[in-house]
Amino acid sequence: MAYGFPTRFYGALGFKITSPFGPRTDPFNPGSADFHTGIDYGGRPAGVPVPATIGGTVFAAKSYQGWGNLVGVRDWQNYNHLFAHLRTLLVVPGQTVARGNPVGTLGSTGKATGPHLHYQINRPGTGVNGSGYFGDPDLYFFPEEEVKMESAIVLGSDVDYASAAPLGDALNCPFFSRSALGQLRAVKTVYVCGGSLAPVREAAPEAKLVDLSGTNRFETAAKIYEYLKSSTRRLVVRG
Ligand SMILES: [Zn+2]
Repeated sequence: MAYGFPTRFYGALGFKITSPFGPRTDPFNPGSADFHTGIDYGGRPAGVPVPATIGGTVFAAKSYQGWGNLVGVRDWQNYNHLFAHLRTLLVVPGQTVARGNPVGTLGSTGKATGPHLHYQINRPGTGVNGSGYFGDPDLYFFPEEEVKMESAIVLGSDVDYASAAPLGDALNCPFFSRSALGQLRAVKTVYVCGGSLAPVREAAPEAKLVDLSGTNRFETAAKIYEYLKSSTRRLVVRG
């Protein structure tokens, strides 16, 4: 389960993660180990637009063997955002794009088992190299996103998600795992739903923290429930 910006961005458009970042079984050689250097988003038909997750300059827009039709967008920090397996390319190198601009359409060109977007972020200077990956794209820091975030929910672990989901609906705010605390710096209010406060305080020194953590997942669930019950009117008004 991932909680970062790319997944929320594509999730809002109906895309679903079909293969997360990290170790996996090679889809082309069942049984042998593979390391997935990006996130795959599918669940939408081939041909739908694939928007850029970030603004920047297009530095690549062509077919690269395994990548298939690939668009690369270089952001303001010189990180390279790669959008692979596209059916068609809608941008050309040198072009400037903004977040949300379609860079291509969803496809299955290159090494792909079906229509999906392979989204990968490469470190500065690594271009389109497969080994240049930054890490899990959901852990990448999207600065424009940070300032817009009014509130956020931090989970102790994945098991807290089910209890925290109604709170997320009420607040209309994103969830963060413990590994993504680096993105919380400018969030105004952080709801801590599981786990200790100290690392959250460190990651978001200015934030108001609402401590809904119990000593175990059941206590946490009860605290969240009580909080929702006592503050329903306020949360609804905040909409
Ligand atoms: Zn992939």
